[in-house]
Parts: sequence; C-alpha cells; structure tokens
Amino acid sequence: MNKLTPESWLVAAGRPEAAGSPLNEPLAPASNFTLGGERIYTRDSGAPGWESLETIIGGLEGGQATVFSSGMAAVAAVFDQLPSAAQIVLPDDCYHGVSELAGTGESKGFWQLRRVPVDDTEQWISAAEESDLLWLESPSNPLLSVADLRSICAAPRKPGAILAVDNTFATPLNQRPLELGADISMHSATKFIGGHSDLLAGLLVTTKSGLDAGFRKSRTINGAIPGALEVFLAVRGLRTLALRLAKAQDSALRLARWLQSRDWTECVRYPGLETHPTHQIAAQQLGGFGTMISFDVAGGATAADALCRNVKLIRHATSLGSVESTMERRGAVPGQEHLPGSLLRLSVGIESWEDIRADLERAHGHSKVV
Ligand SMILES: *Cc1c(COP(=O)(O)O)cnc(C)c1O
Repeated sequence: MNKLTPESWLVAAGRPEAAGSPLNEPLAPASNFTLGGERIYTRDSGAPGWESLETIIGGLEGGQATVFSSGMAAVAAVFDQLPSAAQIVLPDDCYHGVSELAGTGESKGFWQLRRVPVDDTEQWISAAEESDLLWLESPSNPLLSVADLRSICAAPRKPGAILAVDNTFATPLNQRPLELGADISMHSATKFIGGHSDLLAGLLVTTKSGLDAGFRKSRTINGAIPGALEVFLAVRGLRTLALRLAKAQDSALRLARWLQSRDWTECVRYPGLETHPTHQIAAQQLGGFGTMISFDVAGGATAADALCRNVKLIRHATSLGSVESTMERRGAVPGQEHLPGSLLRLSVGIESWEDIRADLERAHGHSKVV
C-alpha cells in the first residue's frame, strides 16, 4: 500500500485484514489479556487500536509512530531520552506547555536551555553543533513563523543529538519532518488528527529504532498511555483529515486576506500571505499554509476580548484544528503575557468561509456599540 497518495493512505491503512473482520479495529477496552498470547497488560504491550493509529501516522510520515495519552506526554517522552546536563534549544515562539516543561527541568538543574528565534536559521545551525536537543516548532504557535527545517536539519549536529519538530500545526499532510532530515516528528493528536475537539492524544514518529524503543519504554514506565476510546476516535477523525484540511486551509487564506483588508485589524499573520515574514520558506516547504491565523485587533486587549465575546458561529475556546472554528486571545492565557494583548488566534474550521467572515463582521459591529 506504500504507493498510495497520503490522502488514500489515511483512508485505507490500519484496518483489520482477516476475512470476516469488521472494517475498523473495534473499540475494545482492555487492561489485561489471558496469558499465553502476545499481549499481557495494556500499559506494557499496547492494544490493537493503538497499532491502527501508529500504522497510519507512521506510514504517512515515513517512520515508526508511538501513541501517547496527550501531546505533552509525547513531548515529555522526548525529554526523557536526554543525557544528564543536556543543552536544549527551543524556539522563541513555542507551545507554552513545552516552554513550561523545559523551564521546570532547567530550574531543577536537569538541563540548560537556550532560546533561538524560529526564523534565525544561522543561529539554529550554529546551535546544532553544541546541543543535545534541538526542539523546533513550525509553523510556530501562535505567531505562525516557519523555520527553514531543511537547512537546519542538514547542519552538522553534535553526536547523539536529537532534532525534533513539533508538527502539530502543519499536520502530516502539509509537512513530513523526517523527510526533511529531522529525527522526530511530534503531534498533539488532540488537534487536527482527532479533529473534533473530543479527545486528547499525542504521537511521536521516528526512523531511529533506539529512539523508538526509548519512547515505548518511557510510555510504559510513566503510564503515559492513551485510552481505548481516544484512540478509536483519533483513527475515526484521521480518515477525513485530507478533506477537513483542504477545506479549512482554503477558507483560512480567504479569511486572512479579508482580515488584512479591514480597518479594525492590525497585523494579520498567516504563512500564506505574501506579507508574512516567513512566507517564502513556507511556500517552499509546506504542502499547504494551514488553518491557523493570528491577528491583532485595533483597540488592544479590550477590543480583542469584545470580539471574542461577540462571535457566535466561531466558538470562543482554546485549542485548534477541529471541524468548528475557534478563537481566543492568547495573551489572556497564564504564562502567555509576553504576547501582544490584542492578538487573537483563529483556528478556521470547515464551515463556509462566508459564514465565518459574516460572524467576525457582525461580532466586530456589535463590539463597537457595546
Ligand atoms: C496542543 C499542543 C501541544 C500539546 O498537546 P496536548 O495534546 O494538549 O497535550 C503541543 N504542541 C502544540 C503545537 C500544540 O498545539
């Protein structure tokens, strides 16, 4: 089946093969199995449903995938692989949970941390020679900056160093970091892979068998295992990822252009806009520009909060990558006060883009009156 296009692979892979089996791996909650077979206890030996998800994502990204209870559980399993007193490089713009995990470990003396701007390729290249972990996130959250992954991955690395890419915003359809030379591609499957705001899960994909074994061991000893229902729903959601992504990113470009033309918005950040600082590299590297838009509302945090209160079709909620559009003011999130107060992050869903636009327009009109 390896010759299939990614969108067909998403639909066809990870299904039971024996004659008479159901088309989908059944939802089968189980903590333990009768002895004598391959499986003993789910925390150690996994469950058939997990393997469906791992097969689909591993095949898509070109590596071995391991599923976790959440994106952060997957991130923690990467940090678990580090030697003592490791040197870590993080992007200046990065998922706040990763910053917090790295910062907590640094304050305990586990490792040393350095921050490099997402788009400062030269600094990443020089950091590669002396670091044990290069953690990249591209496009980044929430400023949507795109790193030159191919150049950074090609740079000489310290022996044993790990280069990991948080691929959550790009999805395995828009970007496959392992093909660009990364050691690890990481996903919060809570977002686009699940796609319906009804589960948490995470994934790590790697071509290195030593890393894969380390991830599985870390998952087992820390108990960072996903629930059966979550994995079932993630596979179910993944079947339609290509359709959802195509629709939502087409709408996102239209909405980004429209937002840019409004006099009540200031900076509109979307990698597909020619004005975006890393548009060139995004156009070369990504299969699509994604569904996330960050924009500043004139009038600061007060105006941004009012817009969030007044949208109806767009849900005022955190998280992203779902069928429904969501929007939030990221600077209102604890630990994110460094962001511009007026910055809103919009996750464009699969509703008609005209309805999303109308909702924003109406919410803006209403915000003015109040
Ligand atoms: C949500 C998210 C995470 C963390 O994933 P959880 O499933 O919430 O634990 C990590 N990275 C990015 C880019 C995310 O959006």
